[in-house]
Amino acid sequence: MHSDVVVIGAGQAGLSAAYALRRAGADFAVLDGDAGPGGAWQHRWPSLRLDRAHRIAPLPGMPLPAADPATPASEVVTDYFTAYERRFELPVLRPVAVRAVHRTDDGFLLRTDAGEWTARGLVSATGTWTRPFWPAYPGRELFAGRQLHTADYRSAEEFRGQSVVVVGGGTSAVQQLIEISEVAETTWVTRREPVWRRDGFDEDAGRAAVALVEQRVRAGLPPGSVVSVTGLMETGAVLAARARGVLDRSPVFDRLTPDGIAWDSPARFVRADAVLWATGFRAALDHLASLHLRAPGGGIAMDGTRVVAEPRLHLVGYGPSASTIGANRAGQAAVRELLRTLDADPAVDR
Ligand code: FAD
Repeated sequence: MHSDVVVIGAGQAGLSAAYALRRAGADFAVLDGDAGPGGAWQHRWPSLRLDRAHRIAPLPGMPLPAADPATPASEVVTDYFTAYERRFELPVLRPVAVRAVHRTDDGFLLRTDAGEWTARGLVSATGTWTRPFWPAYPGRELFAGRQLHTADYRSAEEFRGQSVVVVGGGTSAVQQLIEISEVAETTWVTRREPVWRRDGFDEDAGRAAVALVEQRVRAGLPPGSVVSVTGLMETGAVLAARARGVLDRSPVFDRLTPDGIAWDSPARFVRADAVLWATGFRAALDHLASLHLRAPGGGIAMDGTRVVAEPRLHLVGYGPSASTIGANRAGQAAVRELLRTLDADPAVDR
């Protein structure tokens, strides 16, 4: 199969690129590894709602319908993305997981689990959900209890009556910690003292965080997270949890033991039935490994959304655009630039 442009991934980033391609009248296809619409949102735990801590920007060209705030975000976003794909007749093929991308004389060859594809230009918008990050800690293999990642979490009920360690200082860690603390004993472990925001989202802080990440990817360093640098929202649930002592954090422990976690100095031990690693995600870029794009700094050197070493490849939802608002803008900018590059390419007729 051939399309002039292939978009890999149909989350917020991929759909915003697809919308721009549709408006430009381009020949394109979207290959998405999931079974249905919704991007990563379809997999998020049922108690994650769109509230003060979680807000998403509507995709370009169609408002996000008002939803009952009690409805899980997974449902709201899945319904919205489904309607969006239909409304703009976006050619999303699924489930089609792209396993490897290779260079050809006039573009790319994509090996997928549903056959091969060729394209002159690529937008990769594969998010992070499929790459949960599990940090290495001494004794992790010795711990006899349950270990799970944010991505595996479904409901606090699974932990009723247990002793649970939650590791991580981001929004997901706080939300899951608070829920679990209502039915279980919890211990919160973070690397740094958390930064709380009382006054809602601080746009200046957001812009500064994006600029920092942008600088890193320009220099070919791994991006770090935009969302993590904007601080934690002090919601009503946070205030109530703080009053119960749930948010008294501990510094990182020295090791896991078969039945808990231990610090050396001062010596302390906490027994645990489960450790929840709310330690974030990394960019899902394995399918691009065959292009050998890694810079010496360990990341992919970028100029905006364009990969410096491969100008017909754009990454959207990566680095500075890894938020719903960032992905919207980046999707459109990537398509504008990519179509210009392809138009200017004299080697191949479009
Ligand atoms: P995704 O939504 O992950 O979509 C990627 C798509 O690519 C998926 O459909 C996947 O199946 C597909 N894919 C992956 N690999 C392949 C492959 N090899 N071949 C084919 N398809 C593939 N941002 C906000 O702005 N507001 C929030 O409230 C917010 N809350 C968040 C909560 C959590 C728990 C997390 C982890 C992140 C949150 N973010 C939030 C960040 C947010 O998820 C992103 O900004 C945005 O939704 C990601 O969109 P995306 O399109 O980049 O990725």
